[in-house]
Amino acid sequence: MLHIAFVVSEPDSIEPFGVMSLVPHLTAAGHTCRLFCAEATDLIPALTSFAPQLVCYSSTSGAHTYLAEVNRALKESLSFISVFGGPHPTFFPDFIHEEGVDVIARGECDHSFALFCQGVVDHGHPVETPNFSIKTTRGISSSPVAPLIQDLDSLPFPDRESYYSLSPKIRGYTVRSFLASRGCPFSCSYCFNHSMDALYDGCFRRPRVRSPGSLIAEIREVIGRYPTEFLAFRESIFPLNTAWLITFARLMREHVRLPFYCHLRLDMVTPKRVALLREAGCHSVNVGIEAGSESIRRDLLGRDMSDETIIEGCRLLREAGIHILANNMLGLPSTTFAQDLATLRLNQRAKPHYSLAMLWQPYPGTRLARFAREEGWFTDSCDALEFSYYDHSHVTFKNPSDKRRVENLQRLFAVAAKFPRLTPLVALLTRLPPNPVFDSIFKTVYLVYHQSEIFPHRMTPRDLRDHLRGLLE
Ligand code: SF4
Repeated sequence: MLHIAFVVSEPDSIEPFGVMSLVPHLTAAGHTCRLFCAEATDLIPALTSFAPQLVCYSSTSGAHTYLAEVNRALKESLSFISVFGGPHPTFFPDFIHEEGVDVIARGECDHSFALFCQGVVDHGHPVETPNFSIKTTRGISSSPVAPLIQDLDSLPFPDRESYYSLSPKIRGYTVRSFLASRGCPFSCSYCFNHSMDALYDGCFRRPRVRSPGSLIAEIREVIGRYPTEFLAFRESIFPLNTAWLITFARLMREHVRLPFYCHLRLDMVTPKRVALLREAGCHSVNVGIEAGSESIRRDLLGRDMSDETIIEGCRLLREAGIHILANNMLGLPSTTFAQDLATLRLNQRAKPHYSLAMLWQPYPGTRLARFAREEGWFTDSCDALEFSYYDHSHVTFKNPSDKRRVENLQRLFAVAAKFPRLTPLVALLTRLPPNPVFDSIFKTVYLVYHQSEIFPHRMTPRDLRDHLRGLLE
């Protein structure tokens, strides 16, 4: 049986569900799995002593260049088969041509990963398996994806221990994440969802939802084992079917009684749903405003949502006492700084508790990235993308000075959204060169709102120290 190493880029407060979901299948098949941190100073000795036959990475676009580098460095000292899964290889399968990448896994691999490993055990090398593409001396051998698993209750709970064992800090973080469903019925142009749907012949858009009983059983198991103050549901859109919500709210009241955070769309917010979410313990939600112009939302982003819907959805949530984190994207291809100011103004009217702005990134596999590439708004290689969507815009702007202004606005957005009177001053400040003061304002406001309004939980001295260090970096 195999020793399988999963190398994660950096222990983060959001658990890596892809990896944690695979571990129970592989362990049940007799393999030994262990997670490693790519940044650990003892990574090579630790891996040498584990002696893995497979070293696996789950990679987003942005993390892919870093993880590919880590993999190449490991290959200089160790002999193993490298397997890359996650969004980047799924939507950019050409990644398999990268030096050092032996195999890529695309889509959901709950069962096929164990099949792949069995192939390696039986043949001594990778063999054709659904979801997998393999680099061979004769070229690339790719197999179609296996059908999606419809009954999510049939899957084992993710193995958190394998992840928490990486770091006492992560184990002690009292916000625990869960997934209630997979899939999303919408098709926003900047999101992977439509590409996933194409990969699965139109089946991905039908959300698959766990039963409330299965979800609550996992929550109870986790809170019985690890200190927990707050729950975060991380799927694209939290299940909002009324019968499902009624049962979920009852079980949460009877067995859990902890506050939670989840993702919603403002055009799905109704008084009844809000009341049920509140009854279940919903403390905060993450919603997308994204852009201030209806036509940009409709025509560029594929989100046909009126200003009134956004404002009314926020009002319903706010009046129910639910805290709102609103996402926004600045620097969209073909747009201007003035249009990003309109996004700020819509946030000022909708009044979420925290307006978070990101800089749009041309992630490969999304319709909007294709449009940007074809129309000349993005000319770099996708290897130019970074880990963070807060640092730099990669868009070519009609007016070159807009790039600096948009990047500065991203840092000051939340403050200006909260205090509309500051808008003229903020607009003026965006003309300055990028600077560490604006970076610190963004990080401080982000930290304060995340810790106090969106994910309220105790901060340890270690958390504070790490955040202060982050501010200085
Ligand atoms: S952005 Fe959200 S709502 Fe839109 S397709 Fe992606 S997951 Fe669905």
